[in-house]
Amino acid sequence: MTDIAKLIENTIRADVRAVGGYHVPDSVGYVKLDAMENPYQLPDDLRTQLGARLADAALNRYPVPSYRTLKDAICAKLGIPAGYDVLLGNGSDELITILATTIARQERDGSKRAVVMAPVPAFVMFSRSAQFAGADFVGVPIKPDFSLDLPAMLAAIDEHKPSLVFLAYPNNPTGNLYDAADMEAIINALGESGVVVVDEAYQPFAKVSFMDRLPQHPNLVVMRTLSKLGLAGIRLGYMTAAAPLLAEFEKVRPPYNVNILTQVAAEFALEHLDVLDRQAELLNVERTRLAAELAGLPGVEVFPSAANFIALRVPDAERACKLLHGEKVLIKNLSKMHTLLANCIRVTVSTPQENDQFLTALKASL
Ligand SMILES: *Cc1c(COP(=O)(O)O)cnc(C)c1O
Repeated sequence: MTDIAKLIENTIRADVRAVGGYHVPDSVGYVKLDAMENPYQLPDDLRTQLGARLADAALNRYPVPSYRTLKDAICAKLGIPAGYDVLLGNGSDELITILATTIARQERDGSKRAVVMAPVPAFVMFSRSAQFAGADFVGVPIKPDFSLDLPAMLAAIDEHKPSLVFLAYPNNPTGNLYDAADMEAIINALGESGVVVVDEAYQPFAKVSFMDRLPQHPNLVVMRTLSKLGLAGIRLGYMTAAAPLLAEFEKVRPPYNVNILTQVAAEFALEHLDVLDRQAELLNVERTRLAAELAGLPGVEVFPSAANFIALRVPDAERACKLLHGEKVLIKNLSKMHTLLANCIRVTVSTPQENDQFLTALKASL
């Protein structure tokens, strides 16, 4: 009889056996403020129209792997510079995996593994994807005010020679925008030796972008997603870069990675982008209000955010999260992610009513 434990030990990579799974808490019955989702759905009339469009989708066929109509809609509506195309992913999570899988090690003799770098704390998928792709991940700590430590980044680039650097703009989980001149300095320092991915997952809220810098920097990739804009459920991410570079990443993309229901729903949503943009504006208004209310609470430090979430430091994050959980409010405890985030929590900006529920529960927890 085959011993399953032995089988796993013999066949599964040691580093995979050693990690825990990506934990997503059960959220049924909770006010869900832990995952940066847009709380609003499409209005009823649009949902009815979308239903009819989805009913017409050719579920019996494979998607057309060029995804030309969807890509054209993205290019036209989402500010892709003229002459640039996009590569689509099953969420930007998949794009991160594609990027980490495609990059090379710097030593021609293969003596070292490829290096992926990012300022930390950062989005966890950067390091996870690097690891699973067989690359080394180097995290360079940001400063206590969450700004980039440019000298440390440049020194780490010099030492480790990364082929790929991720810069989230704004950063998750901190919410702030790095200084654009610092980011340019990193892009310039890498030049021909490394690709810089500016991850603009929160661009619908931040309203700033590196898109128009693409022509100056052949080593720049700009990556975005429809998730935070209100379509997290359909899983669609996109990225753009100079055509020859994009073509290399395109080879690694599974040919039918975006399913037909996602394609139809995304095309429909882009026809009604104004609706999603208005929702983002509402959330930005609420972000300002929520930040101001939080700043008025005793012992609470609020960090500036350009995203649809706010990072804050409380006297006891463990206690706050536990009590909020008891009040059926889910938020994210950042404390264990990095020493810079001691007693920090992250809350998604939601409807006025849900934000008030959070505020009331947080006040009671302090
Ligand atoms: C949420 C998030 C993503 C993931 O987006 P998906 O398209 O839903 O996979 C990517 N990058 C950052 C920084 C994020 O916060």
